[in-house]
Amino acid sequence: MDSIKAIKGVKDILPEETPRWRFIEDAVKRWALCYGYQEIRIPIFEFTALFARSIGSATDIVEKEMYTFPDRDGTSLTLRPEGTAGTVRAFIEHNRAADPLPQKYFYLGPMFRHERPQAGRLRQFHQFGVESFGTSDPRADIEVIALLWRLLSDLALPDLTLEINSLGTSGDRTAYKPILLAFLSQHKSLLCENCRRRMNTNPLRVLDCKVPGCQAATESAPKLTDHLSSEARTHFDQVLAGLLALGIPYTLNPRLVRGLDYYCFTSFEITSTHLGAQNAVGAGGRYDGLVETLGGPSIPAVGFAIGLERVSLMLPNTSSSLRNNCLYYVAAFGEKGTALGLVLLDELRRAGLSAQSDYRATTLKAHLRQADRSKCRYAIFLGDDEAVRGSIILRDLE
Ligand code: ATP
Ligand code: MG
Repeated sequence: MDSIKAIKGVKDILPEETPRWRFIEDAVKRWALCYGYQEIRIPIFEFTALFARSIGSATDIVEKEMYTFPDRDGTSLTLRPEGTAGTVRAFIEHNRAADPLPQKYFYLGPMFRHERPQAGRLRQFHQFGVESFGTSDPRADIEVIALLWRLLSDLALPDLTLEINSLGTSGDRTAYKPILLAFLSQHKSLLCENCRRRMNTNPLRVLDCKVPGCQAATESAPKLTDHLSSEARTHFDQVLAGLLALGIPYTLNPRLVRGLDYYCFTSFEITSTHLGAQNAVGAGGRYDGLVETLGGPSIPAVGFAIGLERVSLMLPNTSSSLRNNCLYYVAAFGEKGTALGLVLLDELRRAGLSAQSDYRATTLKAHLRQADRSKCRYAIFLGDDEAVRGSIILRDLE
């Protein structure tokens, strides 16, 4: 019979890789808690309207990447493509704004986007993200960027660059769009088909296009940062000054507009040259209007999300916690030894000491082979002689 395969772009994480994943997950949780963020667990699927309204209809995610399907009654549902929309929905639904602000959340889990699968780009992938609700103070922006930077540095990821930009207020963007559009119209023939289409619906996205022709064409485009209001300019300068004070290096990138519509003011991305084409490890920014857009009160917020597959691809292989091995291999043989071995295994485990055995092995030789394969630190030999004497033989396998 034909075997059934996993869906394209949806990967199994096998036991050899799970220690690596636990290591990453433990690190991100530890860092988030250290900065005062608390875990929230939001659903895997939501009403489609939530993502359409928050992420924006003229974005790659909503236009072509969402897994959307009708529920049995016909209601349109979507597998979450990101975590901010659900977190904000929960924040509003549970009336969290009535509790003292600021409130800081983190989440961790699978996201779903219909993309062309390749290294570092999957259809089911994992994100860790944080959201800080309740203040537009630039120190909140600095805090989330610092958390992101310290965390990735702690994981010893190589060659990281923090790119940062300001998207200004919505008024700044409204004033800037015709300026950009005038420029784009002059260079329309150089743009890709996608950009020619979206320059009228969402001209900022053209700056973000990865097609080399579009990047070259928009090289000398007018910069949003040259058209910021004094409010946005001051905010941005304070964020940059804070990063400088913390010793976090950054590169200004006036083209960094991000693929989601809800961002304003600070926008940032961390990239690495080690990731090839999929060079973004994580990204985020401020989204002061989103809570209100989703039907809540006007509450400013800032956050980021990182892709854990890309973190895993970059994680150095050195840490000992990336291994999975048991401490003891119990080699029990002979009639009495085998009976006692069963009890010994149970006692070790109850004492919190990891232990394993191969129940198929009946000879010392077979056990030795298995002990070696198991990569346990110690082997315990327990045959009939030992059982009679009430002793064991302990061997350090290293
Ligand atoms: P990209 O430019 O790589 O498509 P994005 O702008 O769509 O990224 P975000 O929505 O900001 O990404 O998500 C934050 C992070 O999540 C990314 O920096 C990346 O590490 C990760 N990510 C996004 N999409 C995928 C995917 N399909 N597979 C694996 N990781 C992903
Ligand atoms: Mg994308």
